[in-house]
Amino acid sequence: MNKLFKVAVLGGGASGLLAATELLTGDSALLGREVAILERNDRLGKKLVATGNGQGNLSNAKLSSTNYSGAADFISAFIEQFNKINPVSYLNKLGIVTEKDEAGRIYPVSRQASSVLDILRQYLESKNCTAITGFKAISVKPCADGFKIVSEKGDIITAQKVIIAAGGKAAKQFGTDGSAYSLLTEFSHKLTPLYPSLVQLKTEKELIKGLKGIKHNVALQLFDCEKLIKFATGDLLFTDFGVSGNAVFKISDKIQTLQNPILIIDFVPNFSEPELKNILINRKKQGYIPTRELLNGIVHKKLGETIYKLCNNDIDKTAKTVKSFALKIVGTLGFDYAQTTKGGINTHDINPETYESKLQKGIYVVGEILDVDGECGGYNLTFAFTSGIAAAKAVKAAFIENK
Ligand SMILES: Cc1cc2nc3c(=O)[nH]c(=O)nc-3n(C[C@H](O)[C@H](O)[C@H](O)COP(=O)(O)OP(=O)(O)OC[C@H]3O[C@@H](n4cnc5c(N)ncnc54)[C@H](O)[C@@H]3O)c2cc1C
Repeated sequence: MNKLFKVAVLGGGASGLLAATELLTGDSALLGREVAILERNDRLGKKLVATGNGQGNLSNAKLSSTNYSGAADFISAFIEQFNKINPVSYLNKLGIVTEKDEAGRIYPVSRQASSVLDILRQYLESKNCTAITGFKAISVKPCADGFKIVSEKGDIITAQKVIIAAGGKAAKQFGTDGSAYSLLTEFSHKLTPLYPSLVQLKTEKELIKGLKGIKHNVALQLFDCEKLIKFATGDLLFTDFGVSGNAVFKISDKIQTLQNPILIIDFVPNFSEPELKNILINRKKQGYIPTRELLNGIVHKKLGETIYKLCNNDIDKTAKTVKSFALKIVGTLGFDYAQTTKGGINTHDINPETYESKLQKGIYVVGEILDVDGECGGYNLTFAFTSGIAAAKAVKAAFIENK
């Protein structure tokens, strides 16, 4: 094996795969034998295949800086890159056919994330890209030829430039346990505080007994010690440990920093409390709907029964509870169950145009390892794809300019 490469892409996930693809594309393309993808898992793209419940929510037609958290100037530079690169049309040109759903979420038409990985892998193979799996990098050090990358097993790869695309701390079953941050802190990069994001919440259980599996369109307010922290709308799904769903995901990154988080759930966001109260009064007057079923057809029947028991036939209280059901949050399911990481390598030390480290020339940093996280809906893959492609373009330009 040729162990001296022009570029090593460290991490064969969403951002690394797109970085390698771009390095091997266009007039200034490198040769396959000059580019190595180093991946600790036994195969590339393990997480990519699991995205969007296996359907691969690749991006979103409604995308702006408001869908991301991180340093404002870095995010706005990313949005500019996104507009220039247009990662969805980039994937389309590679042969990945996509469509969007009514919420603007973009998927492969097959609704199989594995088909996206297949095509990326086939493209890279057609360019003879070197993929080295089972290579867990434990150090990246400058050397005369560029950088020496050492694996846990003691294998050594040398590369003139390195794109670090090793992901964050969420979902360690896919190879991302947070250990890769140290590759960059060695170069004096700073790490911002890390929190699990897009993760299910654990709540008090007594109130939600028997509701497992019930899904509702809701508006959520997250409070801490009576202070409103965040508002979100979307789906809420009751689970045996608490709540999940995209509305819950939207507020989940805040939980770890709060003292006494309480969720106030509005199960009928399209009705005001007086409107709901009127409906209930009229139903009661009509007389034929049993009082314990007054909420039937307004909320899920089982949820209606739970609320009836709580409110004991009091119409005012029932309307209030449907509009502001209070649930105490006791925690999150943590990094192992999170879809993404909030926090990461501080973007202050990363060039927002090229993704090159400002602290170590020749090192580029892309994807979730950075302190950028997106909402649920294709935003995180979009950042991974865009940053990977942008860094690879910058690497090719640097070779041309001989920098
Ligand atoms: C279950 C699940 C579903 C998701 N669904 C969606 C979705 O539908 N849409 C969306 O936008 N986002 C989704 N996400 C989030 C999205 O997948 C990630 O944000 C995105 O994959 C990040 O890309 P990345 O390239 O930065 O990191 P990753 O895709 O995590 O890839 C990093 C790679 O680096 C490797 N690696 C780590 N350390 C080392 C090392 N030391 N040496 C060598 N290799 C290393 C890892 O094994 C991994 O393969 C989902 C996440 C999960 C967990």
